[in-house]
Amino acid sequence: MASNFSESSVLNNDYYIDTDSSEEKEKAENGTQTRFLKCSKERDFPAICTVSVIGKSVEGRDIKMLKISNSNASNAAVWLDAAIHSREWISTAVVTYLADFIARNFQDLSNSVTNKDWYIVPVLNPDGYEYTHTRDRMWRKNRARRDGVCVGVDLNRNFSCGWGNNGEEGSSDNPNSVFYRGPEPFSEPESSAVRDTILSSSTEFKVFLSFHSYFELIIFPWGYKTDPCPHYLDLLEGASIMARVTT
Ligand SMILES: [Zn+2]
Repeated sequence: MASNFSESSVLNNDYYIDTDSSEEKEKAENGTQTRFLKCSKERDFPAICTVSVIGKSVEGRDIKMLKISNSNASNAAVWLDAAIHSREWISTAVVTYLADFIARNFQDLSNSVTNKDWYIVPVLNPDGYEYTHTRDRMWRKNRARRDGVCVGVDLNRNFSCGWGNNGEEGSSDNPNSVFYRGPEPFSEPESSAVRDTILSSSTEFKVFLSFHSYFELIIFPWGYKTDPCPHYLDLLEGASIMARVTT
C-alpha cells in the first residue's frame, strides 16, 4: 500500500499542477479536480471541451464533468468516471490522462474515437476525495450522515440494479460497513447525479466505464447474479481486449 500511495501522489500532483495565480485559492475551495477542469481542458480546447456541474455532493462540493465532443448530432456517448471510491486516487489520474490524450490529439484520432461524446467525471466522490487528502487516506465511501454522524455510503452499491438483492453478500445494510449500500437506491446525490445526467442526455450511451484501483479486475454485468447479461459475448470480447492492453 505504501508504494500505491507514493505513485498516486506523484501522478496527482504532476497532473494537476497549474501556474494560475488562483491555484491555492481553488485548491482550498474545491480540490484538484477544479484546477484540471477549469484551467486546462476548457481553456486549451474550447472548440471541443465543455465543463459543467452535474450535481452537488453531500457536503455541497461541485461534481464536475468534462465533455469532449465535436458536437456531431450522430455521435454516441461514452461515460468515464473515477474516484467513486475516494481512496482510489490513481483512477482519477488514469481518467484525466485519457481526457488529456483525447483532447490534445483529437484532430488526429480515428473516427471511432471522434464520433463519440465523451462524458468524463474525474472525481465522482469529491467529499471523500478531499477527506482522503486531509483526514483518512483509506476512506472509501461518500460523507453521508445518519443521526448527525458521518457513516458514508458505498456509492457504487447505491445504484438501483440489483440493489440489496444478495443481502450481506457484496453490499451491506449496516452503516458501519465499508460496503454500506445506503437506505435506498439512489439515496445519495453523487449516484443520483450519474443517473440524472445519463437519463437526461439526448445522446444514446454506448459505453459506461467506472474506473477503480483496488483490484486488478475488469468487471462487467451482472455483478449481483451469475446469469449471463445481454450482449455477454460482446462484453467478454471487449473486456478481454482491455485486459490484454492493460497488462
Ligand atoms: Zn473501487
